[in-house]
Amino acid sequence: MSFSAPLSPLRHGALLALMLLLSACQPSPTQTRIQGNTMGTYFVVTITDTYPGGKPALQKEVNALLARMNKEISTYDPDSLISRFNLGPANAPTLIPATMAKIVQQGIDAGHLTGGKLDVTVGPLVNLWGFGPDKRPVKRPSPEQIVRARERVGIDKLDLLPQGDHFLLTKRIADLYLDLSTLGEGAASDEIAALLERKGVDNYLIEVAGAVRSKGHNSQGNPWRVAIVEPSGKPGTIEDVVTPNGMGLSTAGSYLNYYELDGRRYSHIIDPATGEPVTHKLVSASVITQTTLEADALDTALMVMGPEQAMSFARRHHLAVYLIVKTEQGFEARYTPEFAPYLSAKPQTGATKPVS
Ligand code: ADP
Ligand code: MG
Repeated sequence: MSFSAPLSPLRHGALLALMLLLSACQPSPTQTRIQGNTMGTYFVVTITDTYPGGKPALQKEVNALLARMNKEISTYDPDSLISRFNLGPANAPTLIPATMAKIVQQGIDAGHLTGGKLDVTVGPLVNLWGFGPDKRPVKRPSPEQIVRARERVGIDKLDLLPQGDHFLLTKRIADLYLDLSTLGEGAASDEIAALLERKGVDNYLIEVAGAVRSKGHNSQGNPWRVAIVEPSGKPGTIEDVVTPNGMGLSTAGSYLNYYELDGRRYSHIIDPATGEPVTHKLVSASVITQTTLEADALDTALMVMGPEQAMSFARRHHLAVYLIVKTEQGFEARYTPEFAPYLSAKPQTGATKPVS
């Protein structure tokens, strides 16, 4: 029985798929950059305007915002709002703030839109396959274990209702496990963008792992550019360069977070329809939408669907989507016509581009 460690210690698998070209450079005197860790991963904020109170205030206020979000949605904090909701009884409405409700609502909406491929209640299955806070399994779960875990899964077991400035969140079964971590980075990117804009900052680049928001220009006066890197493991191999121009960009992938057991490769992406990790050849999905929260919900759903279904879903919904698929020849990039305008090199729309 072979049992290898994941390639990356990051809990969030493909987040390294996005590397900021400009992050590699030293900050110039006209830009301010702060960074830190949150949600089991990293964040970097770069601005080319002045922040009231300067860099120390920027760092302090972004840290405080992220700490507040973690207190709402971190399943790793036993005292967070989500942990208390998960531990609480069925049919007892929990009052949650609008910030958290927005993330729950996005999870529910994207769940419906994708026919259940994104499921924010999939946690019991994630744990069963060894990708949650529980340990990795030493053997494949039995069909009975999968059936039992699936009984605890489904967004139809969750209700969200407005209540004044707040919302009421209710679960229909006691052992429902809500996990918003696949949307957390996108939500955090949007919240940081809102904070910056409230403070009069109009030129910024925010990355919370694979969730990127940018607006305006960098210190050279050019629009911010982001690299999508080739998932071959070769450091710094750039697949394409994207200019998100004020939109939210999020990337998910399966190539960094997986394990091997008895010669089979298990990804941390679970198909709720089968209760099993996906085994297809789609290694990364990037989505550009108005908000990073929505992009972060959809990238995970596309990763569940696999290359063909993801591409037809993206075309049907006119989404700006960029997929990297592993083929016999190497990695292949496939994108929708809506994604083409964001590519710096502007290749043919809808083209399939072999890259190695
Ligand atoms: P990535 O690391 O690929 O960018 P995320 O960290 O955002 O992706 O999300 C991956 C995590 O999402 C998994 O580790 C798992 O906890 C959870 N997950 C797996 N399958 C699903 C699914 N079908 N719907 C929602 N969340 C999922
Ligand atoms: Mg995601």
